[in-house]
Amino acid sequence: MIITQKRNLDDLMENIKRYKSFFLVGCSECASLCGTGGTPELAAMKEKLEGDGKKVTGTFLAKTGCQVLGTKVELKPYKDALAETECILVMSCGAGTQTAVDLFKDKPVYATNDSLFLGNMTRMQIFDERCSLCGECILDKTGGVCPVTACPKGIMNGPCGGTNNGKCEVSSDIDCAWVKIYTRMKDTDQLEDMKKINKPKNWAAHKKPMTLNVREKKEEGTK
Ligand code: SF4
Ligand code: SF4
Repeated sequence: MIITQKRNLDDLMENIKRYKSFFLVGCSECASLCGTGGTPELAAMKEKLEGDGKKVTGTFLAKTGCQVLGTKVELKPYKDALAETECILVMSCGAGTQTAVDLFKDKPVYATNDSLFLGNMTRMQIFDERCSLCGECILDKTGGVCPVTACPKGIMNGPCGGTNNGKCEVSSDIDCAWVKIYTRMKDTDQLEDMKKINKPKNWAAHKKPMTLNVREKKEEGTK
């Protein structure tokens, strides 16, 4: 999931102060779990704006805010509210915000959140970064622990000389990723595979901006 945090509210209010009417968009997926764009957060933002003398024309919780066509369909019942809206506030990740940019061609769109990383919720509202979307996954060679993300240096064949009692030299708050990899591979009887040298990281596998057309790939596969 995409982990988000709320942006500085004073800063946001300063940026949007020239608008009088707002339509609020949340997301029922990651932003809801992060507590940045679910039903309670939409209600709190509505209350804040109305307290500041602004008009809120509607609040809307997208099923999956980064799904452009689905969100477009879900927004149909809000046509009248949107007609009297000056500004759209999106309370999801950067992808959800850009769904709104795609859909609202004639209205300014503002993001209320910072998008931080792709991660897992390990306990309620506690998130760990687990994948850097490197474009060339090596989890099958590292016992399922990601060195690209969990090692601050992204070392492909570790550990480095600074590892210390299972901790990372960059910060003693962090477990050394390569000690985690070793432990995991030992526990799962894969240590033999650790003797193989991993290739240098192909950073070109992660170029920006990336696109993926799965339909085209399927068609190619049938030729
Ligand atoms: S190796 Fe790359 S794709 Fe695989 S988990 Fe790590 S960052 Fe993500
Ligand atoms: S101590 Fe471990 S996690 Fe830290 S930089 Fe070195 S190999 Fe990476």
